[in-house]
Amino acid sequence: MEQPQNYFLRKFLALDRRVPGYLTRLETGSIATRHHMWAQTLRFLKRIICLPEERISRICLASLAETDDQTEEKYNWFTQVKNGLAAMGIDMSWPLPDKWEQEWLDIIASYFLNQDKRKVMDSPTNGFYTRMMTADTLSPAPHLLSSLPLSNKRILTQIRLKSRFLNIGKKFCLLHPEGNCQACNRKAEDSIFHFLCECPIYSAPILRNRNISQDTFLNLLTVEDEPIWTEICNSAISSIASRSFLSELMEEGNEEASVTT
Ligand SMILES: [Zn+2]
Repeated sequence: MEQPQNYFLRKFLALDRRVPGYLTRLETGSIATRHHMWAQTLRFLKRIICLPEERISRICLASLAETDDQTEEKYNWFTQVKNGLAAMGIDMSWPLPDKWEQEWLDIIASYFLNQDKRKVMDSPTNGFYTRMMTADTLSPAPHLLSSLPLSNKRILTQIRLKSRFLNIGKKFCLLHPEGNCQACNRKAEDSIFHFLCECPIYSAPILRNRNISQDTFLNLLTVEDEPIWTEICNSAISSIASRSFLSELMEEGNEEASVTT
C-alpha cells in the first residue's frame, strides 16, 4: 500500500531502491498512505453520522453498530473500522461521543509517526538518522525547505539517509560500509563519513581539512546553514566523481586483462 508513494519519493530524491519507506516519509515529512486512508474513512463516517436519522445510510450504520458483536468482522464495516481504530488506541463505542473527529485524527497522525520513528530506532543500521530525528511532528528536513537547488537537496538527502548508493546525475558510486575502505590504508569502515570527511583518496580537501568528528558532521547536516550545506554538496560531488572515475578505470583495466589472458 505504501510502495507507490515510496517509489515516487525515492525517484524524486534520486535514492537507492533499498531506502525504506519510513525513512523517506520522515525525511520529507510525508503522511503515510494508511494515514490518508484512515482520514478518508473518518470523513466518510462523519458524513453518514451528520445525515438525518431517517436516511438509509444512517439507518444501515446504526444497524451495523448494534449488531457489532453478533456478526463476523468481514461482514460488518463498523466492526472493521472499530477494530482498526482500537489497534491505534481509539475506542469507537456506539453511539459516538461528541467532537471525536479531530481528536481521533491527531491520535492516528501520532500513531503512524511513532511507528516510523520506532522502525528507525529498532534498526541497527539507522543510528546515524536517529540522532537527526528530533521533531515531534511530521515536517520536511530543513534542507528540503531551503533555497538550495534540487540537485544539492538530493545529495544532502542521500548523505542524511546514509544511502549506500550515491549519485549525481550519471556519476555514481556504491559504498560498502560492512567492510573497510579499499582506497586508503586507514583501515576505516567504508562509511559515508569516512568517504566524505576522512579518506585521503576520495574526500575533498576543503571538508577533510576541517578535521570534523561524526557528531559535528551530523550537526552540520541538521542545523540550517546553506553555505555549509553547499560546501558539503560540492565536496560530495567531487568525491563521487573521483570514485566513479576510479571505478571506471578499474573496470576497463579488468576488461583489458581478461582480453589479453
Ligand atoms: Zn579511505
